[in-house]
Amino acid sequence: METSIINGNALAKRLRQALAERVRRLAKAGITPGLAVIIVGEDPASKIYVRNKVRACAEIGVHSEHIELPADTTQAELLARIAQLNADTRIHGILVQLPLPKQISSEAVLTAIAPEKDADGFHPMNVGLLATGHPRFVPCTPAGVMAMLEDQGINPWAQQAVVVGASNIVGKPVALLLLQKGATVTICNSKTRDLGAHTRSADILVVATGKANLVTADMVKPGAVVIDVGMNRTPEGKLCGDADFQGMLGKVSHITPVPGGVGPMTITMLLANTVQSAERTAGAK
Ligand code: NAP
Repeated sequence: METSIINGNALAKRLRQALAERVRRLAKAGITPGLAVIIVGEDPASKIYVRNKVRACAEIGVHSEHIELPADTTQAELLARIAQLNADTRIHGILVQLPLPKQISSEAVLTAIAPEKDADGFHPMNVGLLATGHPRFVPCTPAGVMAMLEDQGINPWAQQAVVVGASNIVGKPVALLLLQKGATVTICNSKTRDLGAHTRSADILVVATGKANLVTADMVKPGAVVIDVGMNRTPEGKLCGDADFQGMLGKVSHITPVPGGVGPMTITMLLANTVQSAERTAGAK
């Protein structure tokens, strides 16, 4: 079987062009979408993510504010900064880069972001809206996964979907979105017995564990669709996913590469959430 490699970079580019057009339309109504990204501390990986987010905003005309706070920032100081952004009418999306230093509770921070500006979709109210099938902000990586499936014409309806990984930011929301699209969904975690028995049942397999090569070619059904969210480093320092990409070529119908698969879609969906939030503001005016 010929395997189709899903090109996340190409889809992200097309979606960003469409978003840039929506930004131009908003500009005619006098609105510039604004995203505030807060980073606390010096985590080098987080700094790269934040820099990429700020650059992506600029490319499509979204205003961004990059707020860097020192590692010893108190929770009260961070909450006060969030309160200012909640009240700032130029800002339509607020994102706090995780992980946070240990003196700050991420739960308290995520709950402090105004739900209508929660571009990451992590506020409990938005999590609840997603769980009940009325999403306001869909978390960015899961939204990116669903956009890739849709773009490939892959309809989850009545399909067997297996999600390996059950985090709040990827696994659980992806599973909910697949369920809402009519799939029969199994969620696996690190305690799952005989992971292969589950993954081999999947028509659509989403892997998001952070464990390189966890899912090998013998663990997938011929013709399956494999979406690999994982981002790991090999001992040689190369980026790789959670699935054995090379081993699956020729066996599965579709697969996402790492890099160049889900990664570029995540920032695109953050931009989409910010633009959508600005459009809601425009509609409310
Ligand atoms: P996480 O919070 O560490 O969650 C990992 C999940 O995988 C947990 O539910 C864990 O199970 C499960 N797991 C771990 N080992 C397993 C095993 N051997 N078998 C089955 N399940 C196992 O990670 P995350 O934040 O969801 O991220 C997952 C991966 O996606 C990471 O590599 C991350 O870098 C990547 N990621 C990529 C993007 C992107 O834009 N491409 C965005 C976000 C994340 P338990 O619940 O039992 O612990």
